[in-house]
Amino acid sequence: MMDARAAEPRNHDDAGSRAGSATPFDDLGLTVGSGEPLAAHTWLGVGGPARYFCEPVDEEALAKLVRRCHELSVPVRVIGGGSNVLVPDGGVAGLVVRLSAPAFCRIEVDAAGPTGRVDAGAGAKLVHVVAAAVQAGLAGIETLVAVPGTIGGALLGNAGGRGGDIGDRVRRVTVMLPDGTIEDRTGSRLAFGSRWSNLDDGIVVACRLELEVESPQQLTKRMQKQWIVERAEQPSGSRSVALMFKDPLGATAESIIAQAGCRGVRVGGATVHSAHANYVAVQPGSSSNDVRGLIEMVRGQVRQRLGVELTPQIEPW
Ligand SMILES: Cc1cc2nc3c(=O)[nH]c(=O)nc-3n(C[C@H](O)[C@H](O)[C@H](O)COP(=O)(O)OP(=O)(O)OC[C@H]3O[C@@H](n4cnc5c(N)ncnc54)[C@H](O)[C@@H]3O)c2cc1C
Repeated sequence: MMDARAAEPRNHDDAGSRAGSATPFDDLGLTVGSGEPLAAHTWLGVGGPARYFCEPVDEEALAKLVRRCHELSVPVRVIGGGSNVLVPDGGVAGLVVRLSAPAFCRIEVDAAGPTGRVDAGAGAKLVHVVAAAVQAGLAGIETLVAVPGTIGGALLGNAGGRGGDIGDRVRRVTVMLPDGTIEDRTGSRLAFGSRWSNLDDGIVVACRLELEVESPQQLTKRMQKQWIVERAEQPSGSRSVALMFKDPLGATAESIIAQAGCRGVRVGGATVHSAHANYVAVQPGSSSNDVRGLIEMVRGQVRQRLGVELTPQIEPW
């Protein structure tokens, strides 16, 4: 995420105390917390706190925050649905923002033309956007119905599967830059690859998708079928799971992990899911280190036994 790779500044805490305040944001008139436990905002439910945490109410508030962070070299990260991040046990430096306010979660559908459009805020849940499109008779993203998380997270990692990726449908992305300015990106300024995009230099605020017009009834049936298929391929019941690796070209990470004999492998409270081998499942009381250790162990075992180098899907923060 933007500025996140910058070294933790020496002076941003000083900036707060110089002003006689608890955080460097106190004079902005925004609610910024310190030490928010991030585990509660992730699917795995592990990891430590954010140094600073805020759920800004609108774009103006977000701009004030990122501008202040830019001035003081405070790293900024965005957490979406938290389904693809691994937060370290020691927590993360800098500011974590969550675009959960209504201003970032709007979904507007226009199915009147020969092609349809969906405008969605980055904080909107992907499943809600898919449902709104299908209900309006717009096809093209229904195969993403079982992907957890938000539009922002989906765009960052070009979420997808056998039925296609979200990037195929994106026509415009609105991005907030580190100085708080907003820009719309279209055409060749947008690049999407295999679980990758070129959007990691700012905060995604919103996007426009272009979709095909189709019968809502047929689409609904297709979406329901997809939901059943996808859910059968995912661990059910618990939220305490995450996808470990990207599928390599021409194979699935799941089949490779199983072939390497890693089903059921355990590190602390983190286990390779016995039925769905590309998922890590965590027991209550597990740590982020357990998950990290398990991923490294599986990666090493696959390399050693099959000579295949798997690329992690989940992003360590
Ligand atoms: C059960 C399960 C099934 C899954 N199935 C699939 C699947 O079929 N296909 C697939 O592709 N993935 C899948 N995933 C992975 C994950 O759901 C996707 O990567 C998802 O798109 C992540 O969205 P999120 O909102 O949870 O992002 P997060 O995990 O919160 O964040 C992921 C990254 O995006 C960044 N980010 C989030 N929002 C923004 C924003 N507004 N601006 C800038 N950066 C932002 C974060 O900083 C982070 O770097 C699955 C995960 C689970 C747990």
